[in-house]
Amino acid sequence: MQNSSSSESSSHSRVVIVGSGPAGYSAAIYCGRALLEPVLFEGAQELPGGQLMTTTDVENFPGFPDGILGPDLMERFRRQALNCGAQLWGEDVIAVDLEKHPFVVRSDKRAITADALIIATGARARRLDIPGADAFWQKGVTACAICDGALPIFRNRPLFVVGGGDSAMEEALFLTRYSDDVTIVHRRDTLRASKVMAQRAQNHPSIKVLWDTKIVSIQGDGVVKEVTTTHIPSHENTTREAGGVFFAIGHEPNTSFLKQQIPQTPEGYLEVKPGTTQTQVEGVFAAGDVHDMHYRQAITASGSGCMSALEAERWLQTC
Ligand code: NAP
Repeated sequence: MQNSSSSESSSHSRVVIVGSGPAGYSAAIYCGRALLEPVLFEGAQELPGGQLMTTTDVENFPGFPDGILGPDLMERFRRQALNCGAQLWGEDVIAVDLEKHPFVVRSDKRAITADALIIATGARARRLDIPGADAFWQKGVTACAICDGALPIFRNRPLFVVGGGDSAMEEALFLTRYSDDVTIVHRRDTLRASKVMAQRAQNHPSIKVLWDTKIVSIQGDGVVKEVTTTHIPSHENTTREAGGVFFAIGHEPNTSFLKQQIPQTPEGYLEVKPGTTQTQVEGVFAAGDVHDMHYRQAITASGSGCMSALEAERWLQTC
């Protein structure tokens, strides 16, 4: 993978961007084209690119009429950011100091100051806090069917997907490649998922839905062997054979490194001034899923990355 060198990099940048999903790279493309020489922290994981790195076919990103694989799409974003002059640093930001201006941004390797800061750190998958969830984590319990579903332990086994949103539908459908016994466990009697996804999942012969039901514990011996479910209205418990449990119950924004320096909504998303990406801290902008709990799409994240760059550029002219 092509990397921009960080050894010769400066310790100050007009704009620092944190996060390497569609929002971060889009912000970097626009800031780069505005000759702001942005620095983007991509994170220390092997593959930057955010949540789309764990998606297969992306069929709803405009410009790709035949669809594109998530990792391929993100590689294009990344290359474009580099071509537009962004420096990409493969480090995690562990702290920021927004009391001072220029702001201070720290990774475990260095500190850099920034006149403007764009936070585009996205959100991460939530997990259920039930007995067995931690003990069998990655031993049959996961939050990403698309990343893990092809593993041999899941092949031809009864698989359970928790959740009633688009992710749950997508994960259940994906898992039918490996098992003809996939059960969606949903705590209500109606799905939150879009109609097209819900229909696709419900019409699939290998998928059934347990309505008004929750998984209350996961059992096994080294790997997952059983789940116990409760039918919520009747309180009836049932223990079922299981080879895997996939949580698809939403996401939490990645904001812990900010240590509450930017006001958040009760759900933990960064608050922005309506219609903008400006947070409550002047000069700090939020782009993508870290502030958006409504749309959460690659295309909206990308659009908000663009907005954040334009707003940062305008703000820099005044400071
Ligand atoms: P979501 O829409 O927030 O759905 C989360 C689901 O998990 C809900 O059904 C919720 O139940 C359930 N849930 C939450 N906490 C739970 C708990 N403690 N126990 C049991 N169930 C729990 O999240 P998502 O499915 O990840 O989707 C997020 C966004 O991404 C959405 O806008 C979605 O449209 C989009 N998305 C799109 C695609 C696609 O188009 N291909 C694919 C994936 C995601 P309730 O319904 O009862 O609240």
